[in-house]
Amino acid sequence: MDTAIFFEKWDRELLLKVAAKYDCPVYVYRSDIISDQYHRLKSSFDYDRLKINYACKALTNINILRYLRELGSGLDTVSIQEVRLGLLAGFAPKDILYTPNCVAIDEIDKAVELGVRINIDNISILEQFGAKHPHYPVGIRINPHILAGGNSKISTGHIDSKFGISFHQLPLLKRVVDTFGIKVEGLHMHTGSDILDSEVFLQGAEIIFNVANEFRDLDYIDFGSGFKVSYYHDGIETDVEDLGLKMTKRFKEFCKTYGKEIDLMFEPGKFLVSEAGVFLVRVNVIKQTTSTVFAGVDSGLNHLIRPMLYDAHHEIVNVSNPDGRYRIYTVVGYICETDTFGVNRKLHEVSEGDILAFQNAGAYCYMMSSNYNSRYRPAEVLIHNGEDYLIRKREEFSDLIRNQVEINL
Ligand SMILES: *Cc1c(COP(=O)(O)O)cnc(C)c1O
Repeated sequence: MDTAIFFEKWDRELLLKVAAKYDCPVYVYRSDIISDQYHRLKSSFDYDRLKINYACKALTNINILRYLRELGSGLDTVSIQEVRLGLLAGFAPKDILYTPNCVAIDEIDKAVELGVRINIDNISILEQFGAKHPHYPVGIRINPHILAGGNSKISTGHIDSKFGISFHQLPLLKRVVDTFGIKVEGLHMHTGSDILDSEVFLQGAEIIFNVANEFRDLDYIDFGSGFKVSYYHDGIETDVEDLGLKMTKRFKEFCKTYGKEIDLMFEPGKFLVSEAGVFLVRVNVIKQTTSTVFAGVDSGLNHLIRPMLYDAHHEIVNVSNPDGRYRIYTVVGYICETDTFGVNRKLHEVSEGDILAFQNAGAYCYMMSSNYNSRYRPAEVLIHNGEDYLIRKREEFSDLIRNQVEINL
């Protein structure tokens, strides 16, 4: 990998300073990259009623939520706890979309109490909702059955997916909506993650437009997310400019035939924050075995599980020795089971004590961290206007026992 590209984006001195000041392992985010991504997506569409709702499950640090709110973003949430974090961060209830899957009706009742917008993706829940909250408007998550996304673990639109109400069930959906007198204010789709081809969104859109013509009171159509970001410095990512051009044109046509202008929504997670983050770790040991040179670091799948969970790729850079000769390493964590971050990685020669950076660490990284092996979750630092701010403390021993209840045995 060309580390020059990395160091253009991530100031080496700053990263070393952050590692020294806050210790490792530490997640580091850059607010200006989040802002650039937000504006890049926004300006790809020539449509006044474009709304971007940040899918906050990617990264819910309260400062990141506030920052995105200030940029003008709304919020897409998948749990009532995310809804509460959004409210705490100052989002208005109408700017929070709650899109749960397989949650109990009680949790949806709470979302009604909090006054946020709700997307329902299940006929049974829709019936219960209609009976309990006849006047509360809802969005419906439609499954357009489009095969999209990186791999089977992250695609959600296919026929066997648990997400959404199949568009084949439209007659049943209509019957339930009409019988309960439900006000459908929005339609929603989200077909997976790592979708490279903008045609996927356009194909999905056609299906949603057909469904939309059956509902007269729509305020919005939400085309979800799944934008692919570049993981290999190869620039292979969803062409959002192309998508923006084509979708704007098609959406305006749709609005004409529909008879009114409605909101066009997207809810990106990864696209907004993935590239805005790096994860810094320190090398504990170099271990040469018969066939492999391991670089063992002071972190593991407890802090960054994506490689082990679904074969995600994170580029790794040796921040300490940018001019060293390239050698091949397998980078592993300290967790006591197979815990591999990257195999056969070409890194500038690594010594014990060096700082390595994992890229694309803004989305789904800290959020999936755990206390496995009774380790502490790492700290988070935000770089904003050139200053570094601690935005989450590293855990400590008391955090490990805080909720444990000792009994007399
Ligand atoms: C996870 C999720 C997103 C965000 O997906 P990305 O691939 O991170 O952009 C958007 N909408 C819903 C409903 C989701 O569950």
